[in-house]
Amino acid sequence: MQPSSLSGLPAGVGEALEAEGVTDLYPPQEAAVDAGVVDGESLVAAVPTASGKTLIAELAMLSAVERGGKALYIVPLRALASEKKTEFERFEEFGVTVGVSTGNYDSDGEWLATRDVIVATSEKVDSLVRNGAPWIDDLTCVVSDEVHLVDDAGRGPTLEVTLAKLRRLNPGLQTVALSATVGNAATIADWLDAELVESDWRPIDLRMGVHYGSAINFDDGSQTEVPVGSGEDQTAALVGDALDTEEDGQGGSSLVFVNSRRNAESAARKLTGVTGPRLTTDERDRLRELAGDLRDVSDTETSEDLASAVEAGAAFHHAGLASEHRSLVEDAFRDRLIKVVCATPTLAAGVNTPARRVIVRDWRRYDGDFGGMKPLDVLEVHQMCGRAGRPGLDPYGEAVLLATDADTMDELFDRYVWADAEPVRSKLAAEPALRTHVLATVASGFAATREGLLEFLDNTLYATQTDDEGRLAAVTDAVVDYLVVNGFIDRERDGGVERLAATGIGHTVSRLYLDPMSAATVLDGLRDACATTDDTGDAAGAYALSAGTAEDDEEPAFGTYSRVDDEGEGGEGDGDNEEDGGGERDGDGRSDADTDSGPEITPLGLYHLVCRTPDMYQLYLKSGDRETYEEIYYEREAELLGDAPSEYEDVRFEDWLAALKTARLLEDWASEVDEDRMTERYGVGPGDIRGKVDTAEWLLRATETLASDVDGVDGDAVLAVREARKRVEYGVREELLDLAGVRNVGRKRARRLYEAGVESRADLREAEKGVVLGALRGRERTAERVLENAGREDPSMEGVRSDRSASAAATAGSDGDDGEGQASLGDFQ
Ligand code: ADP
Repeated sequence: MQPSSLSGLPAGVGEALEAEGVTDLYPPQEAAVDAGVVDGESLVAAVPTASGKTLIAELAMLSAVERGGKALYIVPLRALASEKKTEFERFEEFGVTVGVSTGNYDSDGEWLATRDVIVATSEKVDSLVRNGAPWIDDLTCVVSDEVHLVDDAGRGPTLEVTLAKLRRLNPGLQTVALSATVGNAATIADWLDAELVESDWRPIDLRMGVHYGSAINFDDGSQTEVPVGSGEDQTAALVGDALDTEEDGQGGSSLVFVNSRRNAESAARKLTGVTGPRLTTDERDRLRELAGDLRDVSDTETSEDLASAVEAGAAFHHAGLASEHRSLVEDAFRDRLIKVVCATPTLAAGVNTPARRVIVRDWRRYDGDFGGMKPLDVLEVHQMCGRAGRPGLDPYGEAVLLATDADTMDELFDRYVWADAEPVRSKLAAEPALRTHVLATVASGFAATREGLLEFLDNTLYATQTDDEGRLAAVTDAVVDYLVVNGFIDRERDGGVERLAATGIGHTVSRLYLDPMSAATVLDGLRDACATTDDTGDAAGAYALSAGTAEDDEEPAFGTYSRVDDEGEGGEGDGDNEEDGGGERDGDGRSDADTDSGPEITPLGLYHLVCRTPDMYQLYLKSGDRETYEEIYYEREAELLGDAPSEYEDVRFEDWLAALKTARLLEDWASEVDEDRMTERYGVGPGDIRGKVDTAEWLLRATETLASDVDGVDGDAVLAVREARKRVEYGVREELLDLAGVRNVGRKRARRLYEAGVESRADLREAEKGVVLGALRGRERTAERVLENAGREDPSMEGVRSDRSASAAATAGSDGDDGEGQASLGDFQ
């Protein structure tokens, strides 16, 4: 079946697809057309990775738009949204407009009303529904990519409820769900009232096998000799063998899946010994250039490790990398410049990076709940294996698991090679999931009574799957009680019926996309602090950070607490000692000794508060951390808001300390501690810092909104939240807030300008250009952009000479990096 023979698509699309190389539809695509996907029929397509699911979605969306409708494409990961948008933009020449919605949860997204096709994550769609985005009602087609992720305990329930809401809002909605091959695709189709296309077909043959001894034993009974030299490891032998086996003049690349970030990094380092010697001079030159680009992304050790592996043709890929790192690696791998990528399973999910050979090196992963190493799901391993084989480039794809003894080989065949993927199971009937969705369901008017709620929840996969109807009702009742107790929902008697209605604050919480428990935690903390503030009695001492006001002799003297990790880095991270007086909140937890304002809400206190909420993934406490953070806790206890657990409540106390560790990371960031030092101190990657900072910024923004909406939190507290948020947003101390707010001025440039005497946005408009240029290390384009963004009338740097003393002052005041580590978080927007 040729694309140009399809009716119902915008004129020219069929021909354009053929020009792209889609001369004939793949069999599952043809089956989808037969099932009515271009005629508005709902469909579940459960077919293997790389078998052309996206085109099925495109056919559905394009035909929907051609009929005058509007389509939504739901992606599982934020990182995939822009990739998909770019992919769909090739249809703009046929009059189909595309938009992506990724930003903050609470932005209103009204401009999307003008787009024909919208790409968004399920969280974003959920938020848009809660905020009443008007175009939601206009949708005629929704695509859910990787719908098998409804099985995911963390994010699955949101996808499940979002699909239920969309279908409830638009009863005629065409729902197209794309799934990996799972054990129960028919159940998903049943839930979505959709036709089912299920197939094992792949455009390129996949051979799965297990390497043991000196050969790969494939599922079709064939063997490929891959001897392992003495002292060599299996992975290295397999990667080398793929590179030495030429097809169309080139060796094959490999993708190695391992179970942790650290393993990905060390495996890549080791494999440079395999890839490096096989590179051509030209490849070496191009890789050196790429390594330079990677180093420019950030000035961390991870960045450096990645760049040096890439110089030798190998790379690692995991969620701790910055997204710029990830896309540079993915592109170079697709261009066959990088020969091997060692990845954690995140890469298997959705990123289109095919390789000749996939090596699943680790098939077990540490799982705390399981109490040890747990085998990966079949579905996960199959998705990794599905990345093997590049159509048109490789004769077939090879996916290889590794065994060091015959028993393990047999086990791997049984467990993964011959096995079918597990069935997908809804994770909705759990309190954390329902807490947020029940409030949103009531707040957005989908239900106004207990019965209405249960009826709405009946549209979920959970209801399709469960035999135990009582369970969902029981959890729902418990959750409604929680929401009532915390003031998010009111129960009202209306005649004989008990009605549920969201309170004002309940509406706000739902719109802000907060877990109600997060909202309750921050409100409790803030109210508690404010009550203490107002109260001039005993309790005030608990928050009085002023030296000498602590009433408890056991407390360390305030105003002198030094950071445990002060390492004498020339003003870095030890702002506590600065004397800036003036009665202002100094942002570092110190208040003036002689003011009578008493209690003070500090950034650390607020960071700790938001880090305690279920919306923040806390850092783990590693061995030895407990002592470190206990010590910090006792020193800074007075700054922390809300009721502290006792040390004997083991789990809660650990949680409290883990939040403190996370809060300290944020505090370091907001005190201009170097990124590299932070990755070392907290044992995280630059991407993790970015993630924590983004989440904290969002939570603090939400906290600010909540705090201004409720009784019991005063204006000073709201201001404290705003300042803590801005400092984390820009990654700077208080005195740089104004400068760092200018576009193109990140935390480092702001510090350099400040040290050179340019202290504010207004100064930028007036300052000697030579000074600005000197502080910005003589980079004219940058200096011009900065001046322009600060509103300077004539930003041109033509003929301006860099002021040496400014440049020297800037160097003394900064951490001495080479200046282009600017792609740090402060510049991330
Ligand atoms: P999936 O979403 O199933 O993992 P994709 O939709 O990304 O797979 O498709 C994998 C590749 O196959 C893409 O590069 C796509 O352009 C190509 N492709 C899809 N359908 C066809 C077809 N009918 N003919 C040729 N190539 C196709």
